[in-house]
Order: sequence, then C-alpha cells, then structure tokens
Amino acid sequence: MVVVKTSPPPTVPVGNKVNKGFPYSNGSIKPHFTPSLNSFINLDQGDPEVFAPYWRKKSEECTVVIKGSDLMSYMSDMSNVCWFMLPELHDAIRRLHRVVGNASAGMDKYIVVGTGSTQLFQAALFALSPSSDPSNHNPINVVAAAPYYSEYQDEVEVLRSGLYRWGGDARVYDKNEEYIEVVTAPNNPCGSIRRAVARSEGEGKLIHDFAYYWPQYTPITEEYDHDVMLFTFSKCTGHAGSRIGWAIVKDIEVARKMTRFIQMSSIGVSKESQIRVAKIIGVICDSYQKIGSSLQSDDLFFEHSKCMLRERWDKLRAAVGKTNLFSLDKYPKNYCNFTRQNSETYPAFAWIKCCGGIEDCESYLRSLKVFARGGKRFGVDGKYARVSLLCRDEVFNEFLTRISNATRDY
Ligand code: PMP
Repeated sequence: MVVVKTSPPPTVPVGNKVNKGFPYSNGSIKPHFTPSLNSFINLDQGDPEVFAPYWRKKSEECTVVIKGSDLMSYMSDMSNVCWFMLPELHDAIRRLHRVVGNASAGMDKYIVVGTGSTQLFQAALFALSPSSDPSNHNPINVVAAAPYYSEYQDEVEVLRSGLYRWGGDARVYDKNEEYIEVVTAPNNPCGSIRRAVARSEGEGKLIHDFAYYWPQYTPITEEYDHDVMLFTFSKCTGHAGSRIGWAIVKDIEVARKMTRFIQMSSIGVSKESQIRVAKIIGVICDSYQKIGSSLQSDDLFFEHSKCMLRERWDKLRAAVGKTNLFSLDKYPKNYCNFTRQNSETYPAFAWIKCCGGIEDCESYLRSLKVFARGGKRFGVDGKYARVSLLCRDEVFNEFLTRISNATRDY
C-alpha cells in the first residue's frame, strides 16, 4: 500500500477493511461483486486477483511511506540510459532475476522501465523498426505464432504506424522482408513454452515476452539471455495496478530508443509505482534469503502461488472430466532450477477446446453466463476460448460449478 504523507496524514484503509472490496482513499470500501447463480462472471481479462490474499498478509511489510515533498523531479539517475528509472528499482530487478534465475540481467545489460510491459512492447517495436526514412521502405512486419496474445495485433495496428504493421501468424510468414517476431513463453493463451519459429529470407528481430516466466506458472528451466526480454510486475506478483514492466536489453542503442519512446509518450514512469515495486521485490528476495530460518514454504510467494494455481488446475481438470464438452492440453513435467523439483506448468489461463459439435466456444460459455475470449481473437479456431484462472476464489468456484453442470443444449 502506498501512503502519501501530507499534513495532516490521511486515513489509511485498515488491513481487515480492505479484505472485501476496493478501498477508496477516504477509507470507505466499494464491495466486491459476489457471483450468484444468475449473474455473469467475467473471466475474459487476466486480472491477477488470485494473489491478493497473500499480499494482504504481507501488507505491513510492504508498506511504503511517501512524504508530500518526495519524488517530485522528472529525473532519477542521469548516469543511466533509462534516466527516469529509480536506482532502487534497477537494483531490485537485478536482484530478483538473480534470485529466480529466469533471465540474465547482469551489468552488461540495460534495463528500461515502462508503464506496464504494454508500453515497453510498443517501445520495442519503435526501437527495432528501421530508422531510415519510412517513405523509402515498407513498414516492418510484426508476427507471432498463433495462438498469439490477443492484444499484440491491436497494439501494432492502433496508430496505423508507418514504421511497422501486423504480419499475422509467424508460422506461415514467408515474405522476403524484414520482420519482428514476438515470442511469448509461456504463451498467452495456451501456456506452451515457445521459441522463435518464423522462417523467412528477410532479417528477423526478436522480442521475447516473458510475462509468465515465473516459478508459480512454469518450471524455470533456463536463464534466458535474449536481445530484448519483456517482464511485467502485473503477472510476477499480481500488482497489475502499479503498471510497472521492464525490458532487459543487450544493445545500448535499442535501450536508448526504447527510453526515447517512453520519454515521448509519458516522460518517464511514476516514481510512486517504482518505489512500491522496489519495496515488494525486496520483501520477496529477503524472504528467499531467510529460507532455513523461521519461514515456512507456504510463506514464500512463489511456492504459495504455485500451490494455489496447482489446486485450481486440479479442480478444473476434475470438473472438465465430468462432461464430454471440453478438453484441456496436458503440459510436460520439467525440472525447475528455482524450486529444485520436477513440476508441471500451471498457466494463468485455461485454453479450453469445446468438443461435441460446439463450434463457438466463446458463445457456448456465454450461454453459461461466463465471459471468456474466443479463439479468433488469438488467430485460431472459434472452438477454443481462453478463460482466466487468476480470478478470486468465489468467482473460480462458481465457474467450476457451471462447467461441471454444463450440458449440450443451449
Ligand atoms: N504480455 C502478455 C503476454 C500479457 O499477458 C500481458 C498482460 N495481460 C502483458 C504483456 C501486459 O502486461 P502489463 O500489465 O505489464 O501491461
């Protein structure tokens, strides 16, 4: 929780009051929606509410006090390429990657902070597009293997840029032109671990989107070291509202251009958010360095979250098994270098395929009063739909009931 200290200090929503809803700054609470038999449940977006109970227990430890006169400047560290990044966030991100071992973020890399990885994706497109006069060449093609994250296409197309354009499914891309391939691993929507697949005569550049490459979702099998790697705090810990993402970049010119894009679009990134994220990362890393002393594994964020996701996946598979209307992929087991155990992948989304002659999975789920995102948004068949598993317990349990009782008639 971020407390902005002015004089007199504002009322801070008390821990137990925050449990059941959204706190206003005056301390009152807008209650959460509780699903009933007849209400729609929204599993379209991947809002990471599942992690909130854990952070409620850690509220005090994660509190940051920001005085009225703090953090007023645009600037943070003018010796860093990403001059608006606070040194404590920079250090915290490097520490987190050292602790988890999922990406190489040593002193030979540049870190660029963004307002979510959504802004960094656009900054990376800008930085990787040819910098010569756009009137002399076609926009560079941006491709991703289907099913791909549904927002990429919109983000590429929204500004009708002369620098880049959407090129569709990377697997069938065969133009003899330069391209940028986005590799999402684990993939949103289907949870598979991916590598670049585009085969073309043209020169390819890569953006690796590692939003879900954290131990609660998938075994950490490698410390990745790609040219441009995107991470987001939204999916790492669930603090999506802080809107913090970061890119780890090898090439200083690419890092400079990404920084310039962020300067042009928002002159930096909220320092209140940066401070809060640095604090929470510090709490996580400290807890791992205390293992073997007083901490139980259930008190450790990644173990705790993985347990919750595993439980959800077990319940979902059991519910799906009760009908013959849906199927789910199986994920391979792999050794996780972080937990030092063999483990399955527990994706943030269920990628559901409708069977039994149901052609439009999104519409079918809607008939069960469940909002989900249909396969066509991800570049594939409408028989598929993506359902978020990051919702609150009440919503997830209601979803299970609806899936278990589903019949063919609708
Ligand atoms: N990439 C992927 C694959 C995602 O699923 C998301 C969030 N849904 C993002 C990027 C954007 O995350 P952020 O909240 O950091 O903008």
